[in-house]
Amino acid sequence: MGLTGIQIFKLLPKTNCKECGSPTCLAFAMALAGGKAELDKCPYVSDEAKATLSEASAPPIRGVVIGTGDKAKKVGEELVFYRHEKTFLNPTAIACLVTDAMDDAEVDAKIDNLNNVQFERVGLTLEADLLAVRCVSGDAGKFEALVKKALGATEKGLIIMADDFAALEAGAKAASGKGALLYAATADNCDQVAALAKETGASVVAKGASIEEVADFTGKIVSGGVKDIVIDAGARDIKSMFYNDNQIRRAALKAKNRDLGFPTIDLVCDMTDDPYKEAMLASLAIAKYGAIVVMSDIDKERMLPLFVQRLNIYTDPQRPMVMDEGIYEINKPGPDSPVIITTNFALTYFIVAAEIEASRVPTWLLIMDVEGMSVLTAWSAGKFVADAMAPFVVKSGIRDKINHNKIIIPGYVAQISGEFQEELGSDWEVVIGTREASDIPAFLKAL
Ligand code: SF4
Repeated sequence: MGLTGIQIFKLLPKTNCKECGSPTCLAFAMALAGGKAELDKCPYVSDEAKATLSEASAPPIRGVVIGTGDKAKKVGEELVFYRHEKTFLNPTAIACLVTDAMDDAEVDAKIDNLNNVQFERVGLTLEADLLAVRCVSGDAGKFEALVKKALGATEKGLIIMADDFAALEAGAKAASGKGALLYAATADNCDQVAALAKETGASVVAKGASIEEVADFTGKIVSGGVKDIVIDAGARDIKSMFYNDNQIRRAALKAKNRDLGFPTIDLVCDMTDDPYKEAMLASLAIAKYGAIVVMSDIDKERMLPLFVQRLNIYTDPQRPMVMDEGIYEINKPGPDSPVIITTNFALTYFIVAAEIEASRVPTWLLIMDVEGMSVLTAWSAGKFVADAMAPFVVKSGIRDKINHNKIIIPGYVAQISGEFQEELGSDWEVVIGTREASDIPAFLKAL
């Protein structure tokens, strides 16, 4: 928010009606200034004030959505340089490149990889996001046919790339209404490309040979009615890519430069022919601060580390990934199935659950809310301890589902077994489980 609380207060109705949930208009203004309230909570703000406040509260880097439906991908809208300051919000979109110089088999193989290379991790599906379709033939008809083929072959958003305006126009019109990203508007054709984007409901890449060149005409694209812009400042090597992405974010966040307040695109596919160098460049772009990375292929061996890196960087460091507290059924447990208790740290859950699944032993897994801490951390914080665990076990209702009295605790908290037994009462038997999750299958089979 660029305005102070007092400046915002001057634009509010000052009736102190409390409908926004704040006791006074001043309190609401202060909450707005601190980013703790939404403007639409006040139903009485005038349209004029709304326009002023919305402009002032717009994120310093514009959020741009590419594609439509479930597979639409948002990039940009970042607020900080370092994720420990707050968090990074919209993970770098990874795109796969196809061109109209490729034969059908090659295009099909790449789109197949884009659609199907996926990994499951901590309950999330890790996958690539966009298809970049490039015209290299200069033949508008051929390019249009490729765009149409792409639209039928993937639900992911398209980046439509052509130097020749006639080809760009043919591709954009074929993808009209699909939320495509047009690549690219330059200083020479930005009016024409902005009009095409407006007509087809697309966003636009502003492309120049330098940051300064791009900054000179993004305002013209906005004036042309297209606010959703992505920047390509011409980097085609590692040093300039790193420099451009950093400087553009710095200009947007620190200098509040609206001409550069847009996400960036890095064409790492054009920087090397070596697939491993390309992966390394993509890794750098994901870390600092590429919003879209275009790669030559989405193959499993390069994607797994990139997806995991992206997941790690874009996971909020201040909010642990947690599971809901409750009883989880694994391998269809019955009344005589064992009961294991552990914490709601997502990684703990998925590791333990995967080992139980692998054992094929039907098991009840009791997940206790300890604010997302791992077993030892929660124990040392006084949260995964006997007098907290016992009431949870009773309240969980697990006793109604079983015909025995055994509950298995993680081996790392073996020291609480006596106290836990006491808290639960004599009708329970506490069993010490394994320290390592990898030993769970053998442990369960031996029960
Ligand atoms: S709803 Fe609007 S007018 Fe009413 S107290 Fe909140 S800010 Fe003031």
